[in-house]
Amino acid sequence: MAKKQFKAESKRLLEMMINSIYTQREIFLRELISNASDAIDKIYYKALTDDNLTFNKEDYYVKIIADKANRTLTITDTGIGMTKEDLENNLGVIAKSGSLAFKSENEAKDGHNIIGQFGVGFYSAFMVADVVTVTSRALGSDEAFKWESEGADGYTIMPADKDSVGTEIVLKIKENTEDDQYDEYLEEYRLRAIIKKYSDFIRYPIKMDVKTQRPKADAENEFEEVQEEQTINSMVPIWRKNKGELTDEDYVNFYNEKRYGFDKPLKHIHVKADGAVVYNAILFIPENTPFDYYTKEYEKGLELYSNGVLIMDKCGDLLPDYFSFVKGMVDSEDLSLNISREMLQHDRQLTLIAKNIKNKVKSALQGMMKDERENYEKFFAAFGRGLKFGVYNDYGMNKEDLQDLLLFTSSKEKKLVSLDEYVSRMPEDQKYIYYASGDSIDRIEKLPQTEMVLDKGYEILYFTDDVDEFAIKMLMKYKEKEFKSVSSGDLGLDSETDKQENEAEENDNKELFEAMGSLLAGKVKSVKASKRLKSHPVCLSTEGDVSIEMEKILKAMPN
Ligand code: ADP
Ligand code: MG
Repeated sequence: MAKKQFKAESKRLLEMMINSIYTQREIFLRELISNASDAIDKIYYKALTDDNLTFNKEDYYVKIIADKANRTLTITDTGIGMTKEDLENNLGVIAKSGSLAFKSENEAKDGHNIIGQFGVGFYSAFMVADVVTVTSRALGSDEAFKWESEGADGYTIMPADKDSVGTEIVLKIKENTEDDQYDEYLEEYRLRAIIKKYSDFIRYPIKMDVKTQRPKADAENEFEEVQEEQTINSMVPIWRKNKGELTDEDYVNFYNEKRYGFDKPLKHIHVKADGAVVYNAILFIPENTPFDYYTKEYEKGLELYSNGVLIMDKCGDLLPDYFSFVKGMVDSEDLSLNISREMLQHDRQLTLIAKNIKNKVKSALQGMMKDERENYEKFFAAFGRGLKFGVYNDYGMNKEDLQDLLLFTSSKEKKLVSLDEYVSRMPEDQKYIYYASGDSIDRIEKLPQTEMVLDKGYEILYFTDDVDEFAIKMLMKYKEKEFKSVSSGDLGLDSETDKQENEAEENDNKELFEAMGSLLAGKVKSVKASKRLKSHPVCLSTEGDVSIEMEKILKAMPN
């Protein structure tokens, strides 16, 4: 039986596509600029193998012209252009990508900077335009053609005049309606912002005529308004530059320009990964805690670029929750994008990058703790609480990543120590890592329970944050040393003879201990003799794993 072909209602398909692929209208400009950049790239790649073709960088650019009076926005490029057939095939057939074909024909020639692949981006122009007119002259041809369409109703192609090779796309911008604003796409400041946001790192200049104030030649302190052609994009992404070329100031400027924060970052991490996974990244450790950092409103994530074009503002999958303070961007050439290029397919590549980034951040923080202690303590004051939650969450799955990044106040000079520092200066006979919990350091220091431990010459970690003890419970041990609360019943300090003496004391004064026990019935479980006190007559202690402080928190929690 002969197979029948599917028929597509292309009118409806186009409408559906235009209105449902993209969540943001403004990306039409990203798509048209990406196409222009691809068109220039194609000449560039051709010139690599064609001796008759030279590629003078100055001749290649994209120009954006807004004309408010006529409500048109024009995007011109000096790229490879389209023949009549190209217009027919590439703009007349939805989901046909000339760029993808070019890439596969020219695989050997390293065509990986070409952005296009799905053959739909062009039609996003209809989100903002009633009429789209494309006039193009292909490289090597002296004929030009004009393709015109009002969207769903189809298109016309006719001969046209064009002096030079390349493509000019004119969008007749829609009128504002009650619900939708389109005027903004004719405003210089808005266009500039969209270009900066999505296309800042397109490798060819994106030019615009902008109005600027210039001091008048013949009069002092007077200015006149002039039109001036400016290049809007930065072109060379700082992350593609060599680290040696860049100064600390360059990174700080990038941080500010990108508005990752208004503070000065404590550290930057520039990654050029070239192994199993290829990507560039610039990551920052901010100095200040964002005001909403410890709330549900805070949204983690890094900017994600594919081939220098912004794909996502905040890609959350690139960062684990406990490193959600990290700001910055990642650029990779081999991500599997979905058709709107706004999202990623669930991607092995992305998982690898995320893992890689996690390790980079971890070792940068460890380095900072070692070599830039003051900065690290600043960092820890801002984000340390999040790290401790990180240890506690996910059933301690991340403790390996986090335990070496923690700091606690120590009884020794009341300075911050890491667990590694604590353990490395433990006296040989010390069995446990001791800690004491309380509302403040002052209060902890007044606890009678600390006396005996301090008297032995052991250090105590002071836990003043309510998450401290929970995090420690998840760790259980650090370098084979268990954690021990100073308020636990058995501090591991009593020798055998101490224990025997305690028991003897309890036996000798049986009546006294029983009397105390019955007086405090329901308030304490038992009354015991202890060697741990020096200057205090009595103290409370707990049996098992839960300290008095932790009991308080658990009791305060809603069931
Ligand atoms: P994609 O860029 O994913 O291929 P588009 O819908 O954006 O899809 O564009 C379709 C095709 O039209 C491109 O692959 C390219 O062949 C052609 N094209 C679009 N814009 C231009 C342009 N400015 N210059 C040359 N060719 C273009
Ligand atoms: Mg495209």
